Amino acid sequence: MSVLGDALRQIIATEGPISVERFMLLALQHPVHGYYTSKMPFGRAGDFVTAPDVSQMFGELVGLWAAQVWLDMGAPHGLHLVELGPGRGTMMADALRATRVVPGFLAGIDVHLVETSPILKDAQENALAAVGMSATWHTAMDTVPDGPAILLANEFFDALPVRHYVRGATGWHERQVDLGPDGALAFGAAAEPMAIDAFLAAGPGAVLEIGHAARRVMTALAGRIATHGGALLVCDYGHAETSLGETLQAIQNHAFVDPLAAPGEADLTTHVDFAMLRRTAETAGTRVTGPLAQGAWLERLGIGARARALKVKAGPDQAVVIDAALARLTGPTSSMATLFKVLAVTHRDMMPPPGFEDPA
Ligand code: SAH
Repeated sequence: MSVLGDALRQIIATEGPISVERFMLLALQHPVHGYYTSKMPFGRAGDFVTAPDVSQMFGELVGLWAAQVWLDMGAPHGLHLVELGPGRGTMMADALRATRVVPGFLAGIDVHLVETSPILKDAQENALAAVGMSATWHTAMDTVPDGPAILLANEFFDALPVRHYVRGATGWHERQVDLGPDGALAFGAAAEPMAIDAFLAAGPGAVLEIGHAARRVMTALAGRIATHGGALLVCDYGHAETSLGETLQAIQNHAFVDPLAAPGEADLTTHVDFAMLRRTAETAGTRVTGPLAQGAWLERLGIGARARALKVKAGPDQAVVIDAALARLTGPTSSMATLFKVLAVTHRDMMPPPGFEDPA
């Protein structure tokens, strides 16, 4: 059991069982022992690899996507370019480097990074300094100033806590983290059912996962776009339709582990419910396009041509690395190409952004 695991057992012993949402929030964001507060999770030496780690091409294309959206908006001065959960800052650094070729873009934007982890904020500062850029940091979206914005969220929504509900004889009961007979953390369920009006035909034992936090965040982001203009790009793994079942997973050293075994030591994520994000953004008055498979979207943005251009200047060993990265990002059997999806939320007056034209 981890230090945080012991602290959670203490909390449960005195306060009673906690929701899966509170468990996830503490495991990831506990001010001292949370996974994102205390660890450097990314890269080969870390617990997992994200698309910006796979290749610079990912961030470059996202940057050029943002610059084209800015041009389509009429190149407004003082546009906020905002990234939520930037990790090591790799994507933003690659994006800003690539957009040097777009006249006026870098001079026309303010960069804002929304990050809760002090360790990752330091890494982001270094990554941006390496490309001669700076940013304003925020621990939550509400301090990012109002105004037209292009918002980027890569593997951000999957890190937000979810609630689980288990189907009992008479209704849905909230799943909780409790103490088992041996004193270890164990899943249980609240005795009282909740008033939830979804999947009423589900059989006993079925589990429903609801991302209330993701919905709140999307409501705020889409509301900002509806009022001030701009666009949001969401890249994440998840499902296109809302469905039954739970997807909570823990990853440590590139392997799946029991989510309750060592909280704070493993990354916890869930698959993003893109249908819910879509409904939420539409309800807030924005236009939503997608989700599309991430690999197909990158191909539409010209990743093949970008890989060929990089290979012209590369030696044989580097060419192999570029081809492997391209296959990982777009190959038909790669999960980063198919399980990963992209969704665009834009102001109603805007055309669908690059790569989202004709989404069928
Ligand atoms: N986008 C990066 C990192 C993904 S990991 C990449 O693709 O490599 C999730 C990131 O979101 C981390 O930077 C984590 O610290 C941050 N994060 C998680 N929950 C957050 C929250 N509620 N507010 C702001 N940042 C958060």
